[in-house]
Formats: sequence, structure tokens, C-alpha cells
Amino acid sequence: MTISNEALEMAARVEAFVRGRIFPYEQDFRRDHHGAPTDELVMEMRELARNAGVLTPHIRPNGSHFNQRETAAILIKSGLTPLGMLACNTQAPDEGNMYLIGHVGNPDLKARFLKPLVEGRARSAFFMTEPAELQGAGADPSMMITTCHRDGNHWVVNGKKCFITGADGAKVGIVMAKSEEPDTKGGACLFLIDLPDPAITITNVPNTIDSSMPGGHADISIDNLRIPADQMLGDAGEGFKYAQIRLSPARLSHCMRWLGGCIRAQEIATDYANRRMAFGKQLIDHEGVGFMLAENMIDLKQIELMIDWCAGVLDTGSLGTVESSMTKVAVSEALMRVADKCVQVMGGTGVADQTIVETMFREVRAFRIYDGPTEVHKWSLAKKIGRDWKHANA
Ligand SMILES: Cc1cc2nc3c(=O)[nH]c(=O)nc-3n(C[C@H](O)[C@H](O)[C@H](O)COP(=O)(O)OP(=O)(O)OC[C@H]3O[C@@H](n4cnc5c(N)ncnc54)[C@H](O)[C@@H]3O)c2cc1C
Repeated sequence: MTISNEALEMAARVEAFVRGRIFPYEQDFRRDHHGAPTDELVMEMRELARNAGVLTPHIRPNGSHFNQRETAAILIKSGLTPLGMLACNTQAPDEGNMYLIGHVGNPDLKARFLKPLVEGRARSAFFMTEPAELQGAGADPSMMITTCHRDGNHWVVNGKKCFITGADGAKVGIVMAKSEEPDTKGGACLFLIDLPDPAITITNVPNTIDSSMPGGHADISIDNLRIPADQMLGDAGEGFKYAQIRLSPARLSHCMRWLGGCIRAQEIATDYANRRMAFGKQLIDHEGVGFMLAENMIDLKQIELMIDWCAGVLDTGSLGTVESSMTKVAVSEALMRVADKCVQVMGGTGVADQTIVETMFREVRAFRIYDGPTEVHKWSLAKKIGRDWKHANA
């Protein structure tokens, strides 16, 4: 599938907006205790994005999504700074949540839960992971301990969750729970809920290495949460299947946004290396520095090509599970190398919060873990290699 002029024009508008209007906000330190931009700051930037016609730029006014390759063109530009994705409403977890509700929700659920998200008036959270100390769902989602059962026209949910990005301050939640109903054969259910809800308690918001996602990553207790049955997203017992629908595009869109951030980090490091002198010449003329930036240039191009390849696969209608696993590993590991080299090129300035280089280093470190840690993707790819070999040699 090709990239339309409409998408290319939108990508150009987003880039001009982010560079011109949002970069200056990097020195605005309205932050919550987790270090993330406050909702006040986000809403202020969103108003600018709305006026510039670049709010939720990956979804057309009629609700249809640009295809994945087009989305890549747009999201890379919105990610040129972590604040850009918040301003344009392309950030995680909302972008993935919008995709899921848009693909699985019925018209009533879309009108109630999707509309405020697309309009950038509300934030959302996806409740899947559970505490390691309770042996809950983590790298292995099938270990889910949060349960749900029917009670008349309602479902009742109980359990604990953790690392729930944006739960603190979110208005919309997607909650995943394992069904105790015999006809669902232990499958999971997904529910759309309004937040806050008295049955959902935020017990802690830990400080984490990353800091760009509003609300941080909350620990949650869910105690007898009663949800009307018509707020189930999709069918009972099919939750893991729907999570898969969200998974590949959401993984890929993280790659797109963080590529944007690392392109910018490389620009900043390049500028530093060309201005800063050491031992009688500019840093760029020291081979050790020049090679770091050259290696980054190669990594950044390879990342772009891998995202484009995976996006193309998803655009054929494939779930792209294998391709998005490969891309997520390759891109997150390569971004880590790029961000690390940008820090190194810039010496002490690289680890100070004067530029987004140190932010990007912290953000891409966390990206190697969420949406499937590197080792889990490699493990599942290795299983596929074994299966394919057995099939070919049967
Ligand atoms: C910044 C951030 C934001 C997040 N946001 C959300 C959110 O919004 N909603 C949500 O539900 N969750 C969220 N998560 C949770 C994330 O999805 C989990 O951290 C991830 O699935 C790993 O689970 P875990 O932390 O329990 O690690 P564990 O399951 O304890 O795994 C620990 C490590 O074990 C290794 N490992 C595990 N299995 C294998 C294997 N088969 N082979 C080899 N090695 C293996 C990996 O190295 C892995 O990193 C977020 C996490 C982070 C860090």
C-alpha cells in the first residue's frame, strides 16, 4: 500500500507544528511527581494542536484511520519530542486504546468512550499487568489473577494491577480479567469503564526510569467493580484475542514515536559535536565521535526500514504477530544504542535535563520491557523457528 498525499501533507503539518510550537515547551517544567507533564500543560498544548489542525492526526475526521505506513509517517513526526505526541494526541496508551475501541467497539461504546479520546478531551488506561509478588500476569499474560463473573446484568471484577500507565487522571479504562464463567473456558474479558470509580483504588504510583507519560504507571486494587454487561468490549472469553488486535499496531506505534525522539536526539548530538571543541578541533573531527554519529545514522535508517516493512505487512490485513515481534526487538534495541551514543557524544550535557537526549535514553530503556520484553519476543520467535522446522521436516 502506498502513502497518500493526504498523509504526507499531514505528516509535514505535524512536523512544522511540533518543531515550531512544541519544542519551546521542552523548557516548561510543569511536571507531576513522576516527572510527567501535567494535564494542564498537555491541555494547553492540545489547544494549539487543535487550532493547527494536527490533533489526533492519524485518524481522519470521519473516524477512519490512516493505514499503518501512513500512520508511521505521521507518528514519527509527532514523536520528535515526547511532548509532541502528547500535544497531538498520538501518545501511548491512548493511541492503542483508540485503535482497539475503534476496531472492536460497537457504535454505542464508540460514541461514549472513543469520542472523548479522539477529541483529546480525556485520557485512558489499559489494565492488564499484575504484581509479580502475587504471580500475576506479566510477560506471561495467561497468569492473570484478576477475575470476573456475571451477576445479573452486570459483571463483577476483583483483582490487582500494576504499571498501569495513565490510570491516575484517566477518564476511560479498559480492564482485562479472567472469566470464571464455565462457558468462557477460562478466557479473558475486556471491559470499558468510566474512571474514576470508587471500586478502583490507586495504591501507589512508583517513580520509574521514564517520565513522559502523564499519570505515571499506577498500582491498582480492584474491589467488587460492577460493570454493566453492555460495557464489555467484544465477546466474553475473547479478551486475549482482542488484546492481540491491539498488540501489533501498538508495538509498532511505540517504534514510530520513539524513532522520532531519537532522530531529534541525533540532531541535538550532531549540533553539539559540530560546535564543541576539544584538543584543538571540533568533536565531529575526532574519529571516535564521528563514528558514533555515523553508526547512529545507519541504525536510524535501519529502524525506519523495519517499521516500514512491518507496517506494510499489517496493511495487508495480517495480524503481523511475528513481524511486529521482530520489529519491536530490533527497533527498541537499536534505539537504545542510538540514545546511548547521543548521550556519550554530548558528555555531561548528555545526562542533564537541558535537552531531550537524556529523556530519550530513559524512555527507550523502558521500551525494551513493555509491550513484550526483548527476551520474550526472541523466545516466541525461537518457538516458531522450531515449529516451522518440524513442519518442513514432517
Ligand atoms: C513504562 C512501562 C509502562 C507500562 N504500561 C503498562 C500499561 O499501561 N498496562 C499494562 O497492563 N502493563 C503495562 N506495563 C507492564 C508491562 O507490560 C510488563 O512490565 C511486561 O509485560 C513484563 O512483565 P513483568 O514486568 O511482570 O516482567 P516479568 O514477567 O517478571 O519478566 C521479567 C523478565 O523476565 C524475562 N523473561 C520473561 N519470560 C521470559 C521468557 N519466556 N524467556 C526469556 N526471558 C523471559 C524478561 O527479560 C523479562 O523482562 C508497563 C511497563 C512499563 C515498564
